[in-house]
Amino acid sequence: MEYGPATEDPSAVRDWLTARGSFGHFIAGRFTKPVETFVTSDPSTGQPLAQISQGTARDVAKAVRAARRAARGWGAMAGHDRARFLYAIARTIQKRERFLSVLETLDNGKPIRESRDIDIPLVVRHFYHHAGWAEIAATEFPGHTPLGVVGQIIPWNFPLLMLAWKVAPALAAGNTVVLKPAEYTSLTALAFAEICAHVGLPAGVLNIVTGDGATGAALVEAPIHKIAFTGSTEVGREIARNLAGSGKKLTLELGGKSPFVVMADADLDAAVEGVVDSIWFNQGQVCCAGSRILVAEAISERFETLLRRRMQKLRLGSPLDKSTDIGAIVDPVQKTRITGILDRATAAGAELIGGQAQQGCFIAPGYLRNIAPANPAMREEIFGPIATLSTFRTVDEAVDLANNTAYGLAASVWSESATVATDLASRIKAGVVWVNCANIFDASAPFGGVRDSGYGREGGREGMLDYLSAPTLTGVKDPQPA
Ligand code: NAD
Repeated sequence: MEYGPATEDPSAVRDWLTARGSFGHFIAGRFTKPVETFVTSDPSTGQPLAQISQGTARDVAKAVRAARRAARGWGAMAGHDRARFLYAIARTIQKRERFLSVLETLDNGKPIRESRDIDIPLVVRHFYHHAGWAEIAATEFPGHTPLGVVGQIIPWNFPLLMLAWKVAPALAAGNTVVLKPAEYTSLTALAFAEICAHVGLPAGVLNIVTGDGATGAALVEAPIHKIAFTGSTEVGREIARNLAGSGKKLTLELGGKSPFVVMADADLDAAVEGVVDSIWFNQGQVCCAGSRILVAEAISERFETLLRRRMQKLRLGSPLDKSTDIGAIVDPVQKTRITGILDRATAAGAELIGGQAQQGCFIAPGYLRNIAPANPAMREEIFGPIATLSTFRTVDEAVDLANNTAYGLAASVWSESATVATDLASRIKAGVVWVNCANIFDASAPFGGVRDSGYGREGGREGMLDYLSAPTLTGVKDPQPA
């Protein structure tokens, strides 16, 4: 099968979209004929990009049947042979990095610099890394077997990267997949399907059914062996309730309200850059964004001056412009949700610095100060380019504030003392704590949350184990002397 053009020229990417017009589901190695469709648009301009199929329970059932048919052959294949497919996928994505970056930016609104330098290279790395796991899984996990068919549901904030985090380990472990991308951002998943067909991945090993929450709910109920979900805590809870007693394995990567703690001895310039990488990365639509900035009172004035100065230099604009730092929010619905939280936060007494809503799907970077612990913006995920800023006096107070949340996905601590930083890190309840950095990801480092941020890990050895069934060990009594 043909796959995307080898170019970063947006008009060539738009031509590719126009040539396809509307996309069916990818089931059993081919695209179905679109029946009922919805429009996906470029959030930065509002212009329609393509028609996407709205998956029904029947489409999901068809995809699950294809995945079940393929499961035996794929699961029994030698790890070395599975690895070759994962290598081929990684290499082909690499050859189309620029095309996929533009497609991601058009569909999601994120700055091209981020899709080109962060998202897509991490996708490639994930497939290469898991090709390695496919190669050694049989010896590293003796007696373990694939689960069978895995249903995967992903959000819109890192569309192709979230797909890679889910698909690469599932396939490496010998499972077959039915994946449902988020309704705002299906395009790179569909381009990925073309790549899988191009490299000759056996039919039914990867299936993609597009659609909304109802399509996701149908996948949860289908006869599959595991659901891997990334998205909101509310939907994650609903899925967990629905699966109770079903025997299906479940992993959940949910929301966060991650603390970003700046100690008095921190390198303040570096910490300010850390904020840029943290809450102003991807317009703050990042599950592990450092959305609660906690600063030692002794240095808070200086830190805030530096922070404001840096914030004013951020360039908001067209996501396709290589100098843009802040692109578009993914959809008008999300923009309204963000401004709603900001209105409630300021009505409750907080002061908003920056953070103004602009025309279209844009919101300027900002932060909330003078904010009480009970303010809704201190607890709810804003999922936009706005942090909260509060101060603390002692390390104990910093720890209490950092842990004063129902979530536990990530944290970032800043100090020039390794002892202070590691002591603080060990007291924060989170799946990952970054020291003097933020939002650093690697395919070999397991990622995932605790508490309301979910359970299960993606990446590395832990991530592989979540896609395998452990062997049942039968106890053998010591032989009795004759
Ligand atoms: P969402 O929960 O609304 O949607 C996520 C996915 O679930 C989408 O594909 C959606 O169509 C599907 N879905 C919606 N309702 C469903 C249902 N009832 N049954 C099955 N599937 C359903 O979340 P979102 O708005 O797309 O994403 C934002 C949220 O995701 C934030 O809370 C963010 O923190 C979280 N997130 C977490 C991580 C992580 O790794 N922990 C990563 C990215 C995003």
